[in-house]
Amino acid sequence: MRIDIITCLPKLLEGPFSDSILKRAQDKQLVSIVIHDLRDYSTNKHKALDDYAFGGGAGMVMMVEPIDRCISHLKGLHNYDEVIYMSPDGELLTQSIANQLSLHQNLIILCGHYKGVDERVREHLITREISIGDYVLSGGELAAAVLSDSIVRLIPGVLSDESSALTDSFQDGLVAPPVYTRPATYKNWNVPDVLLSGHESNIEQWRYEKAVERTKIRRPGLFESDL
Ligand code: SAH
Repeated sequence: MRIDIITCLPKLLEGPFSDSILKRAQDKQLVSIVIHDLRDYSTNKHKALDDYAFGGGAGMVMMVEPIDRCISHLKGLHNYDEVIYMSPDGELLTQSIANQLSLHQNLIILCGHYKGVDERVREHLITREISIGDYVLSGGELAAAVLSDSIVRLIPGVLSDESSALTDSFQDGLVAPPVYTRPATYKNWNVPDVLLSGHESNIEQWRYEKAVERTKIRRPGLFESDL
């Protein structure tokens, strides 16, 4: 898989992809994450990427031309399954969206800044808009990193234990059950006996019951959703 991320602040994206699972996925060539600096596509002599909003009002707007040039350039090189704009009013990111996107080959993710991008970008260049939650960030970079992480960890071979992603919260419409590790007793805080019993089917049953119990309390909506 290839993910091209377009940003006016590439430095903000250096950290998230340079360690741990996302780094290993790139090292193993299971994914290629390429960051593009929008400034390289500006024809403006000051390399400006934003301008005042028509009609007035506070806040600058990202101009259509550099974004169009960048996306057109990329589309000339690869076929993209989706051109995604990170946006607070987009569809809310869920595990099911991450699952769908992880099956694609090539994705573009556009990060907005300031007041957002000129609406013509959204009308003509973007195929999907995704939000990571009902709150406003100062830029799309952190949101793009969240989205990329949620997708990349699902690519077969990225997690060292293949089945791990399948037992995470939301994959089966439930949140995950509690987990414990050694020591079995700490300050008289004990690990449930069943987990130490070695009895696989009892452990399975216990985990399922805990997952259902937690989901009822924490995410009752999951029982009604079509994950
Ligand atoms: N004026 C816009 C917010 C712009 S925030 C509005 O009120 O909707 C600047 C940029 O940050 C956006 O263009 C978007 O790319 C990103 N962003 C902010 N919040 C986000 C969220 N919850 N999810 C995804 N991207 C977000």
